[in-house]
Amino acid sequence: MKAIALTHFGAPTVLRCEEVAVPIPVPDQMLIRVACCGVCGHDLLNRVGAFPNTPMPCVMGHEIAGTVEAVGPVVHGFQPGDRVALNQRISCGTCEACRAGRDNMCRVGAGFYGEELSGGYGEFVVASARNAVILPEEIPFEVGAVLSCAIGTGLHALRRARLQLGDTVVVTAASGGVGFHTVKLARMKGMRVFAISSSPSKADRLREAGAEEVLDLAGFHSRVKSLTDGGADAVIEAAGSVTFGSSLRSLKAGGRLMLVGNVEPGHVPLNPGLPILRELEILGSAHATVADLAAVMELVRRGQIQPEIGAMLPVAEAAEAHRLMEDRQVTGRVVLTNL
Ligand SMILES: [Zn+2]
Ligand SMILES: [Zn+2]
Repeated sequence: MKAIALTHFGAPTVLRCEEVAVPIPVPDQMLIRVACCGVCGHDLLNRVGAFPNTPMPCVMGHEIAGTVEAVGPVVHGFQPGDRVALNQRISCGTCEACRAGRDNMCRVGAGFYGEELSGGYGEFVVASARNAVILPEEIPFEVGAVLSCAIGTGLHALRRARLQLGDTVVVTAASGGVGFHTVKLARMKGMRVFAISSSPSKADRLREAGAEEVLDLAGFHSRVKSLTDGGADAVIEAAGSVTFGSSLRSLKAGGRLMLVGNVEPGHVPLNPGLPILRELEILGSAHATVADLAAVMELVRRGQIQPEIGAMLPVAEAAEAHRLMEDRQVTGRVVLTNL
């Protein structure tokens, strides 16, 4: 099949179309014909070498929707021709994490697309009944592709933050793919939302998405504190080191800092006194579970949340898609398509 396979790390020009083998499903897997694959910030980091253990050559892309082409002998609930959206990882279904419903934490299964598994920047991938969800006819493939990563990640973080109706939440990197959808989800779930964004031009769209206030990066914690009764219940930290300090100081006593994104990887200074004295919780939140994907799909089917697709390009133009993302020329997800 034709695919964009990473053979060495570097600039977008390393993303070239190659002839690679079609991945072979094991008996409890299916072969999926890829219709669309979202382009994630994670892919850009992988391309430049942030995950040095990525086996080469590797077909990139973990935000996948397509059609079931063939079904292994021990797969139940799916048949050729079914439209599906995939979660980013194929879990094992039996380890301690899987049994606890934390399939995003499974490290025993076939793994993560674009790294351990051949990904969606090609014509075919393998999938399992454990990471595939039937995509209703009314949801187009480009939307199905981005459900688990661009929206499910935010839903997972909001769930882990134990937020209730009426709670206050701050979302950093709010103009980005995960941040923007998290603002929408939080508003939809009846929360008061403050969006942090370095792009003033995107403030109107964030307000439309449900942000009560759109605040600039510089010292946003003082503004959050003055607008709330002592601070926010949680911060969804989708940026990383640039906002970490203000995010921590935005919290009220007992608040939760959810680490979700790490756009500019780096260490953060932490004075333990603040979390100790205010009993703050600092928690990680990684991707989404297949249950999050199913929940998000139902929200989209009912029209309660609509993913933003910023651009669609043929898979062969993956390098251009990465350039668009790096230059921040697009709001919403960039999606590659074989359609
Ligand atoms: Zn992603
Ligand atoms: Zn497992």
